[in-house]
Amino acid sequence: MPPERVTVLASLRDYIEQLREEGLDGLPVANPLSPALAGPQPQPAEVAAASVARRPARMANSSDEKKLAVKRDDSAQQPQSLLATPSNAPTELFSRYPGLEKIADLDMLREFIGDCTRCKLAPGRTKLVFGVGNPNAELMFVGEAPGADEDLQGEPFVGRAGQLLTDIIERGMGMSRNDVYICNVIKCRPPGNRNPEPDEVSTCEPFLFRQIDLVRPKVIVGLGTFAVQALLKVKTPISKLRGNWHEMQGIKMMPTFHPAYLLRNPADKRLVWADIQEVMKFLGQPVPPQRSRR
Ligand code: URA
Repeated sequence: MPPERVTVLASLRDYIEQLREEGLDGLPVANPLSPALAGPQPQPAEVAAASVARRPARMANSSDEKKLAVKRDDSAQQPQSLLATPSNAPTELFSRYPGLEKIADLDMLREFIGDCTRCKLAPGRTKLVFGVGNPNAELMFVGEAPGADEDLQGEPFVGRAGQLLTDIIERGMGMSRNDVYICNVIKCRPPGNRNPEPDEVSTCEPFLFRQIDLVRPKVIVGLGTFAVQALLKVKTPISKLRGNWHEMQGIKMMPTFHPAYLLRNPADKRLVWADIQEVMKFLGQPVPPQRSRR
């Protein structure tokens, strides 16, 4: 089978699996002729930012595209051979929101976001889910978007999938949930837990990129297809990305399966554990002997 077809099939399989994780039993149908279904049209500046964000990774290192400023750039010490994807977060993402680049800490960033109404998710949310954990964490987990429990509590990963993530951190890694930083690509719950839409991502992601800059972790663990594809600006399925080191904003990034996927596919916990062990080795942490995990 031609390699492109293998990739398309793997992407489809991932997508359908993701729909199942979210409790849907069919493919969403969008009528391209109905503007009502398309939601609010992005403003010209948003279109520009989104088109930059969607550029393929191979264009990202062209000399006129600067990487986002990071206060600590560990990439120089990292063997390039370990990096499967170069950083390509474009500076233009910050220019969407004047002043964002000057924000100096997470509290200021939360204040800057405020009672956000920048995208169409605002009217349906209960609480905006900003992020939680150690603002100086070495390790940051990035998920997709809040679910129902997170929307009610205003904290990421507190539902069933969140309990599994906490278990990975606390029982697997021997760390406290308070030691790491946890957030999502999208800060508000999409209705019915549907996937975030491109205009919602392009509106919200400058905040995530600033959050990453401010925490400056040594490692980001990207949880699941959507988060990893949004972070790396690729369309490669998670099954092909996981287990390999990537890089974004000069920070090492390990993609792995989403905990919600693991709830449905517990046999793949061993793959996530292998990815987490790589992360622990990189952070210089002792890898505890394997024990039974939920
Ligand atoms: N899934 C996510 O991706 N994020 C959450 O916060 C909860 C579930």
